[in-house]
Amino acid sequence: MSAVDRMGRPIRRGPESPQWRGGRCTSSAYVTLLVPDHPRAGKQGRVCEHVLVAERALGKYLPSTAEVHHVDENKQNNDPHNLVICQDHAYHGLLHRRMRAFKACGNPNARCCVRCGSYRDQEDIRVSRGGQSYHRSCQAKHERERKAAIRAARRTRGSV
Ligand SMILES: [Zn+2]
Ligand SMILES: [Zn+2]
Repeated sequence: MSAVDRMGRPIRRGPESPQWRGGRCTSSAYVTLLVPDHPRAGKQGRVCEHVLVAERALGKYLPSTAEVHHVDENKQNNDPHNLVICQDHAYHGLLHRRMRAFKACGNPNARCCVRCGSYRDQEDIRVSRGGQSYHRSCQAKHERERKAAIRAARRTRGSV
C-alpha cells in the first residue's frame, strides 16, 4: 500500500523523499526531523526535535500553545533532562527572565530596570501595569528628560 496525494501522485516520505538528508537537520538554530504528518510539521514537513522528545516523554502531542525550553540554553541539546515543557509563550518568557536575572545577580526574582538596564537596588524597582520594570529614580529622570525635550522642541518652534 502506498500513500498518494490529492493529485494521485505517490507521497514519498523518509528516505524516498526528495528532501531527505538523513532526516536530522542541524543547519538552523534547532535540530529538525522530517515528520510530515505531525500537527506541527512546517511546509517542508519538518518538526523540531525538542518537540518530538518532549512529546515522547509526555506520551502525546503537545498542546498547540505549548513551547519547549532548553535548560542549558543550547537549542541543539535535546536530551530529555534538558527540556522543560512550558504551557505557553508567557510562561516560557518568564523562565528566560528568571534565568537572565539569576545569571546577572544570583536572584532569579530580580527585575531588570528598562531605563538603566541594571538589576541593582531591587527595593527601588517598580513594575508597571504593562509588566515593564524600572527604578523609580530612573523613571523620574526619564520623565524629566522627556518633558525637557518637549519644552526645547516648543522653544525651537517658537523662535522660527
Ligand atoms: Zn527557552
Ligand atoms: Zn534603573
